[in-house]
Amino acid sequence: MEFSQLVDYLRNYDGPKIRLMEVCGSHTHAISEHGIRDILSPNIELLSGPGCPVCVTPTAYVDKLIELSLINGTTVVTFGDLLRVPGSKESLNEAKGRGGSVEMVYSPMDVLDLAKRHPDRNFVFAAVGFETTAPIYTLLLDNVLSKGLKNIQILTALKTMPGAIGFLCENGANIDGFIAPGHVSAVTGAQYFDELASKYKIPFAVSGFAAKELIIAIYGLIQMVLNKDYSVKNFYTSVVDNEKNPIIEKQLAKYFEPADVAWRGMGIIENSGLILKEEYAQFDAGSIGLDVDNKKNKACRCGDILMGKAKPEDCPLFKKACSPMTPQGACMVSEEGSCFNAWRR
Ligand code: SF4
Repeated sequence: MEFSQLVDYLRNYDGPKIRLMEVCGSHTHAISEHGIRDILSPNIELLSGPGCPVCVTPTAYVDKLIELSLINGTTVVTFGDLLRVPGSKESLNEAKGRGGSVEMVYSPMDVLDLAKRHPDRNFVFAAVGFETTAPIYTLLLDNVLSKGLKNIQILTALKTMPGAIGFLCENGANIDGFIAPGHVSAVTGAQYFDELASKYKIPFAVSGFAAKELIIAIYGLIQMVLNKDYSVKNFYTSVVDNEKNPIIEKQLAKYFEPADVAWRGMGIIENSGLILKEEYAQFDAGSIGLDVDNKKNKACRCGDILMGKAKPEDCPLFKKACSPMTPQGACMVSEEGSCFNAWRR
């Protein structure tokens, strides 16, 4: 079928209603950027799941970063996105305004230079992310060990996708098919989702991020839904293999082990994260037990949105009290957040 015919099919589709979910923040951003929703029939609903790392970070984690930033002699080092995510009372940025020591960097490796230049300070890196980001923290730890640096720790909020997707399938999100996360799949291989597909009888399509790649994957996923083909199809073969990357897997297993961790608005999900192994506990700045999720604005519906049970437009604060300038919840902060992307549509 010609590409233009695929677009026509998606535009004119009048079969049973189909609900698809992308579980990758970069897909959320790309779908919004390319206006993919605009070409879909009303019978095809695209939902954004829990794929934006800062969106799924519970408030207790942000509160802990704030607490650390206010300790004399300690600096919290983080990517920019996390600065504005609300904790239970305030954001890291607000804590910085009242004296917290916070540095924004573009790579976790930047903390090595900070630690060397300021040997009298402790630096805590906010290690958030998914399977894609976790490997770089292992490189950071390799460097910390090889350089003998004693003033670097990490605070982990590392998540793994299968636990969260299984949780969605078991908790009434009513999703007919998943656009599997492209970046995660590049690390884990497409077969990472095989077990979920057969267990929950739900298809997965691995997609790239270009408009054409997304349209092809969405078309393919719809055919899988209609044909009850509960498997994983890889539409991103230029980047994603079927098998996982053994080097990355070994590196992750060196420092991290699976754990039950908290997701914002979703609670503690079994076996859905990574924590430092006990032998590396000296590098942990207090990551265990950060499970509380006391949202600052009780009307925020980030949890429902991350689970596909509501859309940003269903939140009473959307485009009113909550905007990218005044985020009331994590989903409005990041360029990968559902609310942010709905706001700019
Ligand atoms: Fe939360 Fe704001 Fe989204 Fe509402 S619009 S769910 S307050 S982030």
